[in-house]
Amino acid sequence: MFDLKDNIAVVTGGASGIGQGIAGMLAKAGARVMVCDIDEDQGKKTASKIGGEFHQLDVTDRSAAERVIETIVQQHGRIDILAANTGIYPEVTIEDMTEDDWDKVQGINLKGIFFIAKPALAAMKRQGYGRVILTSSITGDITGYPGGAFYGATKAAILGFMRSAALEYARHGVTVNAIQPGMIATEGLKKQLGVLSEKGAKAVPMKRLGEPEDVGAAVCFFASSEAKYITGQALVIDGGQILPETPDV
Ligand code: NAD
Repeated sequence: MFDLKDNIAVVTGGASGIGQGIAGMLAKAGARVMVCDIDEDQGKKTASKIGGEFHQLDVTDRSAAERVIETIVQQHGRIDILAANTGIYPEVTIEDMTEDDWDKVQGINLKGIFFIAKPALAAMKRQGYGRVILTSSITGDITGYPGGAFYGATKAAILGFMRSAALEYARHGVTVNAIQPGMIATEGLKKQLGVLSEKGAKAVPMKRLGEPEDVGAAVCFFASSEAKYITGQALVIDGGQILPETPDV
């Protein structure tokens, strides 16, 4: 297990789903985890379960994101890890998609990452150390699905943001990487797939959906000192879903 003892970690969208898995695994590795989420009830439950702290945050609120980072730095003296994970994935076809739909998904999935990453990266630069891990998806630069165009656009863009951020901060002791989960069993995915979850699991070579902790383990790796020479990279966690199989001819 990676040793993240005494690391101060911030996880956005940390109340449930993949964020909860990330928060749990970081805590298990010894980090003190700040669960940041719009959902106060669930966020408090998750934080208390893992011995962390809850900070209510709507990631689309720029000044609130700045305040949360400022408060955490004031209270704990530093921020070692940022897992910027918040994202929504409503399924809407391009013809049904409104400008408001587009703006909402861009706002949470993409601008939300910029709003929290900006003050966190500044704090990490000051302290000369940091680990930023952004939640992208296999949807975007690898796969797609009908109804996922505006979601895929945000997840591909996160990778572009991540690569340039990695270059900007490399000389400051800060790494910036991304994770690309496949189908992970969360409330969000169940809402989207419904009864199709079972069919989804069959499409994965490992014959199961991923668990949030599978993703959390990858975040712990990027956050660890063992990954100190890795930056600007994306790791797929999908049970083999994206692997093209040689046709049986
Ligand atoms: P989820 O819906 O289960 O959980 C999302 C969390 O984000 C919730 O706790 C919710 O309260 C919070 N949230 C929503 N809007 C917010 C806002 N404006 N400010 C702060 N918090 C907010 O989703 P999930 O399945 O765990 O997905 C998490 C991330 O992983 C997303 O970025 C998603 O795109 C990505 N992802 C998920 C899957 C999957 O199969 N579940 C696959 C690839 C990528």
